[in-house]
Amino acid sequence: MDLHEYQGKELFARFGIPVSDGRLATTPDEARRAAEEIGGEVVVKAQVLTGGRGKAGGIKLAADPVEAEQRAKEILGMDIRGHVVRKVWVEKASEIAKEYYLSITFDRSAKQPLFMFTTQGGVDIEQVAEESPDALQRLHVDPLEGFQPYHARRLVYGAGVEDANEQKQIAAIVGKLYDAFVASDAMLCEINPLIVTPAGEVKALDSKFTVDDNALYRHPDVAGMRDVSAADPLEALAREKGVTYVKLDGEVGVLGNGAGLSMSTVDVVTFVGGRPANFCDLGGGGDAQGVVDALEVITRDPQVKSIFFNIFGGITRCDEVARGILAALDQLDMSRYPIVVRLDGTNAEEGRRILAEAGRPNIHPEATMLDGARRAVELAAAA
Ligand code: GDP
Ligand code: MN
Repeated sequence: MDLHEYQGKELFARFGIPVSDGRLATTPDEARRAAEEIGGEVVVKAQVLTGGRGKAGGIKLAADPVEAEQRAKEILGMDIRGHVVRKVWVEKASEIAKEYYLSITFDRSAKQPLFMFTTQGGVDIEQVAEESPDALQRLHVDPLEGFQPYHARRLVYGAGVEDANEQKQIAAIVGKLYDAFVASDAMLCEINPLIVTPAGEVKALDSKFTVDDNALYRHPDVAGMRDVSAADPLEALAREKGVTYVKLDGEVGVLGNGAGLSMSTVDVVTFVGGRPANFCDLGGGGDAQGVVDALEVITRDPQVKSIFFNIFGGITRCDEVARGILAALDQLDMSRYPIVVRLDGTNAEEGRRILAEAGRPNIHPEATMLDGARRAVELAAAA
């Protein structure tokens, strides 16, 4: 789960990472009052779950409360890459002398948390990694050893921070960011930019904070930060129905049983030249209700042109899945979708016979995953 900047900053503050004083506002009037309370120059920042808000015009300075109201009027309702701005964060404006970058994330291949730090902050970190990889300090932390002060020193010296006062502050922030990352079961904590003010004060000017969904039960306060209105509406519907679904941007709706098979299905559809519309895992069962729920979510996406069921019967028997699919099709009107069904494994033949005997013109049984994917892609192109 991704947090908004203001929520990430709230967590940063709890762990002692310096941030600026700010208020949340949902109307221009609230933004003006927020600016009055804060006093002096403020910055009005769009709160949307996407980066690059500055470039998109979603971050604006305001000299006084009246101007803050005006800037909020411009930013609220703005569409930033498909995310409509419904809230702004009004924060005391900072003077910036330098912009650094600090993050911690999981390096899955190393099975360890990975810190990244560079003095070339403020810009896209991918750009720094590509154009000047030597400027990017990377350092793993052995989770059994935990964070040690030498980790922070290595990052700070390695990146060439020369000012002793800055070194000290950044090293402290590195340790606190590790605490925040571990204690929140985070997947990513990123500060870009981590600024140095002309007075030499270091603080987090932005936050990107992603928490592991599977650990949210341990953090009810963080779970409560979920912004339902900002979520992809299809993914929100899927969550409501308990369907494991990730929206992609193609035309072939994909359903598999088991996460591994479903992911392979997405790959195979791509391999044969198609574009998957989604990832969807039916889970172990193939009962009618599970199929109905999944189809409801998948067909809510107007881009879907064909549907590919890829089922491997293990403990789940293919004849049961076939009956589940037919029962689901009795409950939903799916006649406008060509549906390719590949059944293999336990009782596959019986499953295919059941589908064939049902005699539905839009069901196309296939024996292999590759043939099924090809057929689904052809049918999507023809639709
Ligand atoms: P992002 O574009 O979504 O990453 O949003 P950021 O919070 O990182 O802000 C983008 C840029 O806006 C920063 O890199 C700063 O250059 C600028 N900015 C943000 N807050 C302030 C501020 O308080 N004062 C000044 N002078 N610039 C700011
Ligand atoms: Mn940023």
